Amino acid sequence: MTDKSGSGSQQGVCPQCGEAAAMSAQNPWRPFCSKRCKLVDLEGWFAERHVIPGPDDELPPGSDTGSMH
Ligand SMILES: [Zn+2]
Repeated sequence: MTDKSGSGSQQGVCPQCGEAAAMSAQNPWRPFCSKRCKLVDLEGWFAERHVIPGPDDELPPGSDTGSMH
C-alpha cells in the first residue's frame, strides 16, 4: 500500500533548488524542476563518489641509491 495523498496534480518540490517541480511523467527531470537542477545534483554526486586521491606519497625512483659508500 502506498501512503500518498494524491489530490489531482502531482506537484513536488525540487530537492536541488526548492522550487515547485512537477512529479508527473511529463517532467523528464523529476524529481527536479529542470535539467539544470538535475545536472547540478549529478555533478555533486559524482564529485563526492569519484574522489581520486592524488599520488602525494610517491617517492622519486632511484633517489636513495648512490649515496651509500
Ligand atoms: Zn530545481
